[in-house]
Amino acid sequence: MGLIVQKFGGSSVANAERVMNVARIVTDTYKQGNDVIVVVSAQGDTTDDLIAKANEINPSAHKREMDQLLSAGEQISISLLAMAIEKLGFPVISLLGWQAGFNTNAIYTQARIKNIKPNRLQAEIAKHNIVVVAGFQGINRYDDITTLGRGGSDTSAVAIAAALKADKCQIFTDVEGVYTADPRKVENAKKLKEITYDEMLELATLGAQVLNNRSVEMAKKYGVELEVLSSLNPIPGTIVKEAAKMEKMLIRGVTKDKDVALVSILNLQDTPGIAFKIFSKLSAKNINVDIILQSFGRDGTKDIVFTVSKDNGPLAVELLEGMLEDCRIVCNTEVAKVSIVGAGMESHPGTASKMFEALYETNINIQMISTSEIKISVIIDAEDADRAVSAVHRKFIPND
Ligand code: ASP
Ligand code: MG
Repeated sequence: MGLIVQKFGGSSVANAERVMNVARIVTDTYKQGNDVIVVVSAQGDTTDDLIAKANEINPSAHKREMDQLLSAGEQISISLLAMAIEKLGFPVISLLGWQAGFNTNAIYTQARIKNIKPNRLQAEIAKHNIVVVAGFQGINRYDDITTLGRGGSDTSAVAIAAALKADKCQIFTDVEGVYTADPRKVENAKKLKEITYDEMLELATLGAQVLNNRSVEMAKKYGVELEVLSSLNPIPGTIVKEAAKMEKMLIRGVTKDKDVALVSILNLQDTPGIAFKIFSKLSAKNINVDIILQSFGRDGTKDIVFTVSKDNGPLAVELLEGMLEDCRIVCNTEVAKVSIVGAGMESHPGTASKMFEALYETNINIQMISTSEIKISVIIDAEDADRAVSAVHRKFIPND
């Protein structure tokens, strides 16, 4: 018994039948003697549909109006879920972000939560109501509605769990947990029992779409243990928690990211400050650079190669062509990044060579390599990406 926060994503509340299913999960938890706060996202593709509607009328509309529009998706879900819970005979109340005390900064469509004023939530819990809260939204100092960025409902749930010191924070979704690789693509991908915050952050950044990045950052900051589990299959999911509480695994997952462009600057004048010039130009335009490689200088020239997201590739080339002379700049968008993540590699020599061996055995050429304490990434041809993931996965997580 305790306070449990449960979050349900868009697919879990996509239609009337799914909403009733969620109502049953929530009321079962309540029946066991728990206080329950439920956070929900907009139904199915509602948010995408609302964005499309806006674009039809005014693609450059003020972001304040976007938030006014997008927050409506979650308003629909909370009221429908509250009606479903009421139908099952339980006391319930739905609250919009502002009613639940979510104060954010004023950056429309990408707002950050500043604090949660918990009075209303606590009062409703004290009345033994099940409280259904709209995810993804809050209010700023001008009393305007804000939204937290795509996938922001995860963060809403973690924020409530942190503010009210909940005993559990469960993130229900349409998969059964976090896997060692995409189970639809990789034979023998395994569901993880547990994963550290840092590993989960790497996986989320590298393209595993189970949890929103910021929610994991916040969970780590406030020590909120998360469980990722399925709303359709009632079996234990994956626990995301502190490293200290868990066994280190060499490799927790293999991921693939096709949203990569490789920009090469060849025969660049080898003068001091040139790297600074290049990357400050890119950062001034908000272009996020991932992996950077610089060759040794020869005959007064050198090469610098780096990766950015696909849509930033052409823009990066255009900016650099405008400022650099006597060099060749090429952009290759037919590449992918394949990575392994695991806290155990810190203390395990030979992890990198094992990954490279898997690629060698599959005849896949590595164009770039980058490592951090708990991650190794390689850039390869996009057409090799799926084969690479399978080969590397097989190497570290053998078939049983
Ligand atoms: N409905 C919002 C979105 O689709 C928030 C969320 O799903 O978490 O991005
Ligand atoms: Mg959604």
